Amino acid sequence: MRKLIIAGNWKMHGTRTSVQALLTDLTKQLIVSDSVEMIVFPPFVFLEQAQRLLEGSAIKWGAQNIAAEQSGAFTGEISATMISDFACQYTLIGHSERRSLYGEVDDMVAKKFMLAKQARLTPVLCVGETLIEREKGLTQQVVSRQLGAILQLAGGAENLSQAILAYEPVWAIGTGLTATPEQAQEIHAMLRQQVAQLNPTIAQQLRILYGGSVKVANAKALFSMPDIDGGLVGGASLDAQEFLQIYYSAQAK
Ligand code: PEP
Repeated sequence: MRKLIIAGNWKMHGTRTSVQALLTDLTKQLIVSDSVEMIVFPPFVFLEQAQRLLEGSAIKWGAQNIAAEQSGAFTGEISATMISDFACQYTLIGHSERRSLYGEVDDMVAKKFMLAKQARLTPVLCVGETLIEREKGLTQQVVSRQLGAILQLAGGAENLSQAILAYEPVWAIGTGLTATPEQAQEIHAMLRQQVAQLNPTIAQQLRILYGGSVKVANAKALFSMPDIDGGLVGGASLDAQEFLQIYYSAQAK
């Protein structure tokens, strides 16, 4: 039985005041379930505040990105080991906004994935197709290539044993459009099958989150699908009440 995850990607939102309010509301109001984990991904500058407010609670925190290098003359970059210093256990890797806006190609994403693992972080690897790719019937090919880049660099599926996958159709991120539960399930099952070809045990244990305009209104139907193990939530994770309700929707599975 896989434990579900509800993760909040805050993107580039927040101030010290709003972070204080959001995390205080979450920690005070969350009724913790044994079957669902909660993780938040604040911007780097709020990680220390997150550590201070969340340590000792059931809510975990992580970073939205890491550098593709370990250390050195890389002005403006932040390494995996640096974020580990803030007791982060997770990092997003290859979010579609990183891929499309900052030129992160599969090789770079795979390198970041391995650096996260070396720093003992759990990477949340994001994959997903654009609208054009879906319309051309390329969805399976694209997500399989994105996952394949990791499997290739990692030399097999073993590195996925301490990792999380997130299927996020790019056309559904921040647009209000959501994949139907059936559309999402089809891709989640395919991704799991791709890992199962290399290692069926790891595939069975792997948590695959769905992301793309998850809200209270659609969460339950998505999470009820057999291969959807929770959600990576953007916009709706900035509202404590909405995020808590999404978390509670996962309990019903
Ligand atoms: C995301 O940022 O990963 C995301 C899925 O955003 P949203 O929920 O706002 O579509």
